Amino acid sequence: MRSVLSVLFVIAFSAFSFAQGNCGLSYEEGLQVREQMFRNRAEIPLQTIRNIQNSRFTIHIPLVIHIVGNSNGQGFVAAQNVLGMVCRLNNDFADQNLRFYIKDSLRYLRDDLIFADAYDSLAVNRMITYKDTTALNIFTNGSAGGGVAGYYSRRGDYVFMLNSYANSNSPTITHEIGHFFTLPHTFFGWENIDARQLHFNTPAPDSIGTDWRRREVEYVDRTGPLANCYSSADGFCDTDADYISERAQCPLSGTALDPAGTPISPNTTLYMSYFYDDCVNNFTPEQKTAIMTSVVNRNWLFFPAPNTDSLNWTAITHSIPADVSQVQVQDSISFQWNVQGVGPAQKYILFVERLIFGTPVGVVYNGITGSSNTFKLPSNLFINSATYRWQVMPYSNGFTCAGFSNPTTFTVQMPVSIQNISDVPQFSVNPNPVKGDQINIFYKLTEETELSFRILSADGKIISSAPFNTEPAAEHFTTINTSNLPNGIYIIQMISKNGIQSNKIEIIR
Ligand SMILES: [Zn+2]
Repeated sequence: MRSVLSVLFVIAFSAFSFAQGNCGLSYEEGLQVREQMFRNRAEIPLQTIRNIQNSRFTIHIPLVIHIVGNSNGQGFVAAQNVLGMVCRLNNDFADQNLRFYIKDSLRYLRDDLIFADAYDSLAVNRMITYKDTTALNIFTNGSAGGGVAGYYSRRGDYVFMLNSYANSNSPTITHEIGHFFTLPHTFFGWENIDARQLHFNTPAPDSIGTDWRRREVEYVDRTGPLANCYSSADGFCDTDADYISERAQCPLSGTALDPAGTPISPNTTLYMSYFYDDCVNNFTPEQKTAIMTSVVNRNWLFFPAPNTDSLNWTAITHSIPADVSQVQVQDSISFQWNVQGVGPAQKYILFVERLIFGTPVGVVYNGITGSSNTFKLPSNLFINSATYRWQVMPYSNGFTCAGFSNPTTFTVQMPVSIQNISDVPQFSVNPNPVKGDQINIFYKLTEETELSFRILSADGKIISSAPFNTEPAAEHFTTINTSNLPNGIYIIQMISKNGIQSNKIEIIR
């Protein structure tokens, strides 16, 4: 018994990303983002935005989240990480009264073109075809060219997130959604330029780039004759002049001089900057105004609320398998849990891992099970005598912050054989898992039987087999040398005229 809601989401999701990846928004697309922001600013009266901000009503934004894998169904980001990402997004935008929810359900796409490189132009075209044009679309994938952690595609008007950043720990989602709502980088105009090296002693020029790419350089001054913060760089005066376009630690080491020779002192806490993930935690008031202006421009004020945007779950308990229980497996293992104070439209993620000496060594199952509080897994996912632990995560389209229930453990007891053979009442192998160089085989014959043994790999290939041998009715004890077998799962089979008996073993050294 434990309180689900008391779990801080930062603890509940375990995928950490310490890497500092880049945003894939190009200078050209960033320029278009800024043009849209300037247009919105010119066309939508500030008073309209102030009225909306002051009324403090919740604006619901539907997300369609496309989880991309390959055509074999591999490479999908774990659903709990996506839920954590949405939870984080809602925390980061809560003070702006923007509330994101999952429209309908998470979408799983099997697409080899996107899977190969989600930053490729053809992949962008493909993602556009998958879009739901009445929602904010987010795509996740395991690979994207150029070390990109995420991007906003201006052309496709969607957000992409690399799997390893699509979680509650990375602020990348908040940064990309900032672009979606017209925010440029705070260092806009300095892409791929090392300002600290070029302008440490020498003041920056008053403009950089050539031809149509020529852009004004932002002065440090916020007021007075030099101040150009409202029209240059990211177009905001409450974001300090920032020339740092490479991922940088905070506090900033080194600096650069503006055209007047004043050292820049950028705000290292802004989501739209390139300061390290641990540094950033806010948008400025002017950025928030631009976000709301974009929401109005998109005509997105009045999406319906999801059927649940909070949940009344107070506790979740595991009933089957009970904690520290031994489960007799037939063809499947049943899981059942109970939830107190259930809200409507809940779904669950079931997470089952194998343990060795209390340490997780492999994921047995990790998937969305639907709205029922029971689920069955086939027995072939489990190994005889092995220990497992399991957890469930409840969620609804409007609430993704519950986290996992407390894990409980169980041990699996398989039937002696998969096929019953009347003349071989007993056939067992031990130890399992195998840590040494041999396994012991015990079998009992009630009549004289012609027998053979063989070893198969987990995918069914015969690795070795012995010739048939006629053996008397008796208890038999023999050994098989396993020193030449690499670590892994194997099947030991006993073959007689009446059929085949199998025992699964695992070798771990
Ligand atoms: Zn960016």
